[in-house]
Amino acid sequence: NRFQVRNGREVFEEKAYLVGVERKGSTYQKLSSPNPRTYIGSGKVSEIKSAIHALDVETVIFDDELSPGQLRNLEKAFGGDVRVCDRTALILDIFNQRAATHEAALQVALALMEYQLPRLTRMWTHLERQAGGQVKGMGEKQIEVDKRILRTQIGVLKKELDSVRKHRKQYRNRRTSVPVPVVSLVGYTNAGKSTLLNRLTGANVLAEDRLFATLDPTTRRVQIKNGKEFLLTDTVGFIQKLPTMLVAAFRATLEEISESSLLVHVVDISHPLAEQQIEAVDNVLSELDVSSIPKLMVWNKVDKAKDPQKIKLEVERREDVVCISALTGEGLEEFCDAVQDKVKDSMVWVEALVP
Ligand code: GDP
Repeated sequence: NRFQVRNGREVFEEKAYLVGVERKGSTYQKLSSPNPRTYIGSGKVSEIKSAIHALDVETVIFDDELSPGQLRNLEKAFGGDVRVCDRTALILDIFNQRAATHEAALQVALALMEYQLPRLTRMWTHLERQAGGQVKGMGEKQIEVDKRILRTQIGVLKKELDSVRKHRKQYRNRRTSVPVPVVSLVGYTNAGKSTLLNRLTGANVLAEDRLFATLDPTTRRVQIKNGKEFLLTDTVGFIQKLPTMLVAAFRATLEEISESSLLVHVVDISHPLAEQQIEAVDNVLSELDVSSIPKLMVWNKVDKAKDPQKIKLEVERREDVVCISALTGEGLEEFCDAVQDKVKDSMVWVEALVP
């Protein structure tokens, strides 16, 4: 039972739906700048408070990062057991559900702890309130103890992550020392990257209509015409406004991209916000120092597009775009040809391949 505040720029309900919550309503407010105490204005706070009671809401989700103080003040204002959750917490929740490997689990655990550290106060002042103020001061001490424990755990996790990464790097060096094109799929979350990977390789990579279906770098061999092959890597889906803290947590996935022969940018062309999503991905890419790597844009889900004819005409006009449907298989041969074309200058093709 969640009530959401969204900023109107994104279809945020979709995400909350994906983590298995029932949406009771949503609202937004235009302010020149967020209220430092409560993020939204006091009128909006009252309005949401009434809605919470009327609709029996348990959680209010904000589509932005809230400061620890804002979180605390909002929970106090809404009263009772209403939980306030911000965008970072929601994304962490999704990451947590999707962490498939040891490295991903470590990354998520680390991000979660770093998120919790400045917000610990909230839990303890809550307990003090419940005890009617009798334990005043106790909470303060407990926060210090908890912070120390958390910091120690963060240190342990960082060391463990370092050693896991070193191992992966050794493995990667072995792999890339063989001259073979490495093609990375990048794109907005839900664009169809893992579906495309499955389609081309028959690999059993999780594909479902959820966010972040592929949290870890997943690499497969793709065999094409004339016995030629390339390695295809799936990456975690990009989202708009990814909190900086989470970008750092997924560095391993992003690092992988910088060692590719080609970046394939998969776009869900049937999505109403396709253009914004392309821009979001381009923005992230521009921060990653991958400008020297050739790129190929793929417009996926053409089978689902409103006006497929118009899209196909547009693609004909442009040289850097291939139109496909990862679901029906349409356009995949052209896609493989385009990949081969793009990588043949930058890489030596070999017929025998890494194990
Ligand atoms: P990813 O997050 O980019 O890896 O996206 P997925 O591969 O998990 O795909 C997200 C959803 O879109 C899944 O439900 C897929 O079945 C669906 N999908 C992927 N490609 C196509 C396509 O070409 N056409 C249609 N209609 N659906 C697709």
